[in-house]
Amino acid sequence: MELIDSHCHLDAPEFDADRPVVMAAARAAGVAGIVVPAYVAARWHELLTLCRAHAVASSPGLPVLWPALGLHPVHLAAHDDADVGVLADALAAHADVVAVGEIGLDRFLPELTAPAAWARQVRLFEAQLALAKQHDLPVIVHARRCHADIMACLKRVGHRSGGILHAFSGSVEEARQYRRLGLHLGLGGPLTYPQANRLRAVAQALPADAFVIETDAPDLIPHPQHAHHADGRPRQPGERVRNSPAYLPSVLATFAELRGEAPEVLAAQFWQNTVTALRLPSVMASPGVTASATAIS
Ligand SMILES: [Zn+2]
Repeated sequence: MELIDSHCHLDAPEFDADRPVVMAAARAAGVAGIVVPAYVAARWHELLTLCRAHAVASSPGLPVLWPALGLHPVHLAAHDDADVGVLADALAAHADVVAVGEIGLDRFLPELTAPAAWARQVRLFEAQLALAKQHDLPVIVHARRCHADIMACLKRVGHRSGGILHAFSGSVEEARQYRRLGLHLGLGGPLTYPQANRLRAVAQALPADAFVIETDAPDLIPHPQHAHHADGRPRQPGERVRNSPAYLPSVLATFAELRGEAPEVLAAQFWQNTVTALRLPSVMASPGVTASATAIS
């Protein structure tokens, strides 16, 4: 059973000390590919270098890495308005970039919702959507407490090239609206918590071709792993447990349980969905899975 982690910040400093070990553990857990979305321009070069060192077929025993480039809304203070121009140049220069991401809007953090900050978030998001349109690239979108705003931006710019609404946290109706806009829904660790009723309803209500799975590591630890660190030490109060792409099977297992479907069948479907959503190189198409005939319009 082979999986793609459709969203993992493997380039983050949290993995600097043991990145090869984390990657080997992920591969041993069945994760054959990882999409690595960017968050600040200052780290794009490092991210591309990491992904190129693990491009298709270059690293037996380790997952393939695919880069996405973008300006993450939560890191608004770190962005320079000139970064959009740098992104335009980078997308023109680097054909291996699979998507524009992580981009989006965030109404969860108070410092991001002041009028000037919010206006800047919208401006940067729409400028990056316009670049995705220009380059016919999918997008990887972050959305917290602002689904109507996100959908308005997608419509205003005329986004048609698909992508993923990552760490989806909305309602069944909002999930259906994103599907009509051509996006897949990324679900991860939050789905594995027993009290996540709304998210669990989404995972059950839509057809399996709507979803991709993700970890968002080092964030969003799944429930089965939340009580212990990777070395077995119990989590102390106030401590955070680092998430890992190796924990992706926990998300798949929850999905299979909720939908009453075999993990192997869902794994093949999610693989194909990720390949479709991000138009990943066909060399990674999972054997035995027919191309999705799902029309997204
Ligand atoms: Zn992310």
